[in-house]
Amino acid sequence: MTIAFVGLGNMGAPMAARLLGADHAVHGFDLDPAALRALAELGGTAADTLADAVRDASVVVLMLPGSSAVGATLHDEGFVAGPGTVVVDMSSSEPLRTRELAAELAARGVTLVDAPVSGGVARARTGTLTIMAGGEPADLDRVAPVLAPLGTVTRTGAVGSGHAVKALNNLLSATHLLVTSEAILAGERFGLDPETMVSIFNGSSGRSGSTENKWPNFILPGTYDSGFGLRLMLKDMRIATGLADQVGAPDPLGHAAVELWARAAEALEPNADHTEIVNWLRKDASA
Ligand code: NAD
Repeated sequence: MTIAFVGLGNMGAPMAARLLGADHAVHGFDLDPAALRALAELGGTAADTLADAVRDASVVVLMLPGSSAVGATLHDEGFVAGPGTVVVDMSSSEPLRTRELAAELAARGVTLVDAPVSGGVARARTGTLTIMAGGEPADLDRVAPVLAPLGTVTRTGAVGSGHAVKALNNLLSATHLLVTSEAILAGERFGLDPETMVSIFNGSSGRSGSTENKWPNFILPGTYDSGFGLRLMLKDMRIATGLADQVGAPDPLGHAAVELWARAAEALEPNADHTEIVNWLRKDASA
């Protein structure tokens, strides 16, 4: 299958590599020339323009920062997808915006499904992402050969539903990371060893992705290199709290987490990894 792949960043690059490994032809496009060179080195076709990338593709995969880049791409004059093309938005986008874009594309004979992912860069490399897919079953059947090399797919319902559950997952993930870090920093000041605490939490009811993955792999070693930006996480948390507000669900903790995360985003470098929230807590949270 010929696949256009737009957005070859931390996640898109290893995902495109998986598609090449599964014998798909990948025509990649990214605003960053370095990302395009990296794709060419893997055996993909680096397109000079969006139009070149999508011209011969039956499936267009988007792995962009979020809905505004997705909208810009789909409204770009270079996006001339033929009728019957399926666009798979694998970015973590805004569910209601996704529905609007799907309706617009449908009028042009183009289908949009959403298939955001969880698992980070490490699981993008091994093709073991958790993929949450929203759209008509027949449309999801058509893109199944594209998603199979990337991870395990769970169908979530109508278009936009994958984006909704993805944002809600990240609200959980960010809130877990905040409270886990608060607990460990308090324990440290009491004289407890952080590695011992993480190990005990992992055998106890405080266990989460933060204790099993983020603290042991990126925070305790001091590398802060998960490959997921703090600002991208804030975008997802805002999508989730916006969704909760829209449907009238109670979310006081979500709003508190967003407020803290927004202060950290102001204080830290624009490209800070999301695991650096711990350093902000350590130094600046009480300021
Ligand atoms: P990234 O910033 O590393 O990559 C985004 C890429 O998109 C960049 O290479 C950028 O140059 C390109 N880009 C931006 N606008 C563009 C446009 N208009 N046209 C073409 N290229 C454009 O981000 P990432 O970490 O790869 O994340 C991508 C998406 O996946 C985001 O929605 C993010 O929330 C989500 N996500 C990330 C992770 C992670 O661990 N990094 C995990 C799950 C989901």
